[in-house]
Amino acid sequence: MNAGGRSINYLRISVTDRCNFRCQYCVPAAPFTVIPHEQIASYEEILKIARLACDMGITKVRITGGEPFVRKDILSFIKQLCTIDTLSDISITTNGSLVTREKIQALMDMGIQRLNFSLDTLDPIRFKAITRRDRFHQVWEAIMTAHELGMAPIKINTVVMRHINDDEVGAIAGLTRDYPFHVRFIEYMPMGESHMEKQQQVLTAEIRERIESELGPLKQMPRRSNDGPSKNYQLAGAAGVVGFITPISSHFCSECNRLRLTSRGYLRPCLLNDYEKDILTPLREGATDDQLKEIIQSSLKHKPMFHSLGSRRPRDIPISHMTSIGG
Ligand code: SAM
Ligand code: SF4
Repeated sequence: MNAGGRSINYLRISVTDRCNFRCQYCVPAAPFTVIPHEQIASYEEILKIARLACDMGITKVRITGGEPFVRKDILSFIKQLCTIDTLSDISITTNGSLVTREKIQALMDMGIQRLNFSLDTLDPIRFKAITRRDRFHQVWEAIMTAHELGMAPIKINTVVMRHINDDEVGAIAGLTRDYPFHVRFIEYMPMGESHMEKQQQVLTAEIRERIESELGPLKQMPRRSNDGPSKNYQLAGAAGVVGFITPISSHFCSECNRLRLTSRGYLRPCLLNDYEKDILTPLREGATDDQLKEIIQSSLKHKPMFHSLGSRRPRDIPISHMTSIGG
């Protein structure tokens, strides 16, 4: 599949819009409406769409949400996903709080090696303030268990926010000295109704400068196939990698190879653009495989060549929550 000269081989599947956390940068503090269960794509429906997309050139899938592990029977779903022969890479993004030793072992038994954990602080009290949940120890234990069991590469995603965790970027990057983790600092993207102020956004140049002033120079690494949009560096003598994901300061749209399937069964060619194409309703109404493939193909015509998030006025900010799209 192709979209404006870009080869599309990566599908990100949001299996649920529900989450057991309420991260400040992702969702509002006040209760918000979730998608009714009957409107959420069933595992069977997701598998059908994923198989068709794989017939059309998708070779990598990431499972995300919301929090993928809050959805019942997620492991059975992943096991079925693993039966798609042409899929060479399956990974999961999680907040880690429900990821037990047994689940990690089960994933590894299925051949899944790549877990991305979200962790924005190493301080349990701050963790509670950021996620609005007191779960630091469960998340840390999940990361350590995955490491002990030999899962690799373990990626840690950190959204950097001024006056909230910007003073910790050195400590978090410093984890890569002791562990072979891939720590990735992500620029905050203003989306939906998360109530972070624009002034709290910290851009990569500043994060990098802070890390280097505390820990010494970061040496640029050659690009590897699974790097995605992350620009990677290494501290001297480190076991792991420090990466930067720069959707604001340097967008990577011209290299974007992604298509998203939201939890309510809409194809979304760009995270930061609200265009979505319903594929679940035609599937439920009995569309043929060819018709569904045509829907997948036509959704890609709407994949923009760039986004303007860095310069958006408030009314331009995408209204969808990250939890319903899948970050
Ligand atoms: N619940 C899982 C988790 O937290 O890893 C998966 C879904 S979450 C939406 C996926 C990723 O999006 C997380 O790494 C999170 O830090 C990131 N994210 C959420 N809201 C964001 C925002 N406004 N700006 C930048 N990254 C964001
Ligand atoms: Fe939940 Fe992940 Fe969003 Fe946090 S970032 S609220 S864990 S979906």
